[in-house]
Amino acid sequence: MSVARHFPGEYRQARASFLASSAAAGARLEAIQHPLRGPHGEQLFTDVAWIGPADARAALVTIAATHGVEGYCGSGCQIAWLEEGLHKELPPGVALLAIHAINPHGYAWTRRVTEDNVDLNRNFIDHARPLPANPGYEALADTITPREWTEASIAASTRAMEAYKAKHGDLAYRVAIFGGQFCDPHGIFFGGHAPTWSNRTLVDIFRRYLSKVPRVAVVDYHTGLGPYGHGELIYGLPANTDNFKRLQAWLNNEVTSTDLGTSASQPILGMNQTAMVEALPKSQVHVIALEYGTWEPPAVLTALRADNWLHKHGEIDSAQGRAIKKEIRHALYPDADDWKKLVWERAAEINRGLLRGLAQG
Ligand SMILES: [Zn+2]
Repeated sequence: MSVARHFPGEYRQARASFLASSAAAGARLEAIQHPLRGPHGEQLFTDVAWIGPADARAALVTIAATHGVEGYCGSGCQIAWLEEGLHKELPPGVALLAIHAINPHGYAWTRRVTEDNVDLNRNFIDHARPLPANPGYEALADTITPREWTEASIAASTRAMEAYKAKHGDLAYRVAIFGGQFCDPHGIFFGGHAPTWSNRTLVDIFRRYLSKVPRVAVVDYHTGLGPYGHGELIYGLPANTDNFKRLQAWLNNEVTSTDLGTSASQPILGMNQTAMVEALPKSQVHVIALEYGTWEPPAVLTALRADNWLHKHGEIDSAQGRAIKKEIRHALYPDADDWKKLVWERAAEINRGLLRGLAQG
């Protein structure tokens, strides 16, 4: 049977499978309820599973659904890890902490963002300081999300965005769109004006579970960037550090760096990696985003823009709304066995590499 069967169909099913697999693996479980509900009236939770000794000297952390709808992939990796029995490979003294659906609202509602339109992986700035500016985004905001979402408006706005890229270069274009913006609460890649629920919940989980764990490695699952089924290991913190060198040694020198410009991702503002390190000042914390490619970049971006338009100007409960939901789900979660197999094999390889590294400690 294909490992694809472990990948879920929707949030409620993902949660049920994760809880059942975790319980069968002997996990200690905690459910943290989100204040809002899902599209079927269902309660929403971030679920936390701990497998291993309470006084672990090292822990491998996996995080699903930082970007809501991308949680199909992360959830599938977490469930497969348990269902395939790989938790039995945990070295002595090393625990597994699986955080399922850190952004359950986005996951359940098939959105990349949280309930307040915040991109969780742009939300971890110091909100007490002046907000970072993104003049490129400001110039393009009305083009990225036009008032109407029709074939003609999509074509015209896409042409205008391409013209911006031709004039300012690819990096400036990517920073403008994907780098994070703090000026447009209803726009795309909005970093928020305060720490959102998922931000506070993540930091709280890290402090409660990991403060006394000396060595920590984190895999944060993402989708939508890179070649189909390829899993890029993205490190977003300064690269001139022992943590980065250790990660490279553990992972066959395959880690890419936004700092060094070796990643498909441009540098981003307010990323979660910073917060995970800061939450555990007494630990060595090694964080990577495992970013799986899906489709060509224009298709993914158009789906994200469509979803932003839908929630800003459109009707979710309409034929167009349903079509857009299908489009964004497909853009970030190819429902194909070959893709899921590639995803799983890469996830297993990376988890094993990190476990070997943590065990060396
Ligand atoms: Zn993502």
